Amino acid sequence: MNTFDNQHIWHPYAKIPNEVPTYLVESAKGVYLTLEGGKRVIDGMSSWWSAIHGYNHPVLNKAIETQLGKMSHVMFGGLTHQPAIDLTKTLLKITPDHLTKVFFTDSGSVSVEVALKMVLQYWHNKHQANKQKFITIRGGYHGDTFGAMSVCDPDNGMHHLFSGVLPQHFFVKSPSIVSMNEALSDLEVVLKQNANSIAAMILEPVIQNAGGMRIYSPQYLLKAKALCEQYHVLFILDEIATGFGRTGRLFALEYANVKPDILCLGKALTGGYMTLAVTLTTDDVSNAVGTLMHGPTFMANPLACAVAKASIELLLNCPWQNNIANIEKILSAELLPLQKHTQVKDVRVLGAIGIIELTHEVDTQTIQKYLIELGVWLRPYGKLLYTMPPFIVTDGELLTITNAIKTIASRL
Ligand SMILES: *Cc1c(COP(=O)(O)O)cnc(C)c1O
Repeated sequence: MNTFDNQHIWHPYAKIPNEVPTYLVESAKGVYLTLEGGKRVIDGMSSWWSAIHGYNHPVLNKAIETQLGKMSHVMFGGLTHQPAIDLTKTLLKITPDHLTKVFFTDSGSVSVEVALKMVLQYWHNKHQANKQKFITIRGGYHGDTFGAMSVCDPDNGMHHLFSGVLPQHFFVKSPSIVSMNEALSDLEVVLKQNANSIAAMILEPVIQNAGGMRIYSPQYLLKAKALCEQYHVLFILDEIATGFGRTGRLFALEYANVKPDILCLGKALTGGYMTLAVTLTTDDVSNAVGTLMHGPTFMANPLACAVAKASIELLLNCPWQNNIANIEKILSAELLPLQKHTQVKDVRVLGAIGIIELTHEVDTQTIQKYLIELGVWLRPYGKLLYTMPPFIVTDGELLTITNAIKTIASRL
C-alpha cells in the first residue's frame, strides 16, 4: 500500500484518500509495466491511448536525449525552434491538405479550448457575434477544462455539478445510440431553429471514446458536415483519442474523407512520452481569427515536439496498417463471441480498440486486482471493460489481454 500517495496525491477522477488502490510502477519497457515488487503486466490501455509504440523505445528516447542536449525549453513568444518547425511540416503532410495552420498546446483539453476560442473569434470578426453556442452529439468527451467540459455529455456527471457555471450548448441525438437518420434529423431540426446562435459543431469522429466507447457510421460525419455548411456552422473534429492509427486509419476522419475546419490532436501525438497537443485549422479560419489571445507557457515544448516527430516517423515507417488490422482481427475473433454471455450487453471492435459493454457497473477495484494477477493492466469503468493496446503488441501478448477479459467476463 502506498500510504503516502493515498493520503496526499489526487489521482484522476478520484478522491483522497483514494478508494481504489493505486499500483506503483517502477519502470516500463515495450508493452510491459513493472510494478513494485517486480510483477510485470501488459499495458492494455497504452497509458490512455498514447503509448502506441510501447515504453522506453530506443528511437523515442534518442529523440528526446538529442534535443535535451540542445535545449529542453524556450518560450514560444517571439522565438521559434526547429523541433516545432519540423513537427509542423510533418503534421501538415499527414493531415488533410486544407489544414494549413498549427497551434501548439500542452494538453488535449487545452487544444479543444483553443478550437472553441478560434471559432468564437471567427464569428465575432465576421460580424456574427451572436454565434456563441456549440452543438454536439450526446455521449461525447472532449476534456476536463471548462470549455471542453461544456461540450461533454451532459448526463455524465460534470454538468450537474457545474451547471451554474457551464455555458449551455446544444446536444443532439448520437448516431451511436439512435439510427443515423434519426440522429441527422434531430441535428437538422436544431440547426434550422438555432443556426443564428450556433458557432460550430464538435465531434469525435467514428468513435465516441471516454464518454461511452460507442462507434458510429462515418456517413454521419459527411452528412453532419454538409448540414453544418448549409447552416453556416463550423465543423471541429476532436481526434485526440483516435488520431495516429488507433481506428485503423491514420485519422478517423479518413473513413469519410470529411474536411473539418478545425482538427484537435493529442494523446498518441508524442507516442505517450510528453504532454503535447495541437489545434490545426484552415487559411479561412486563421485569416478571420487574426490575433489569437492564447499562449501557454510551455507552448510547443521542444522536447515534446522532437519526440512527436520521431513517433510519427516511427509509425509511418512501420507496417502500421497491417499491425492494426491484425490486432483488429484478433480482438474480433476473441471478443465478439462474448456477446452470448448474459452479463454482456454488447461487444464492439474497431481497429486496435476492443470494448465489452456489460449489463451492469463493474467493481473496478476487484476486477483490476484480478486482471493484475492475470498479468494485464486495464482500467474498467462504469459498465465498460475495454482495451486499446500498444501497436507493437505481439499476438501472444494480445491473447493474454483477451484471455484475461474472457476470464473476467466468465466470472461476472
Ligand atoms: C483525452 C481526450 C481529451 C482531453 O485530452 P487531455 O490531454 O486529457 O486534456 C479530449 N478529447 C478526447 C476525444 C479525448 O479522448
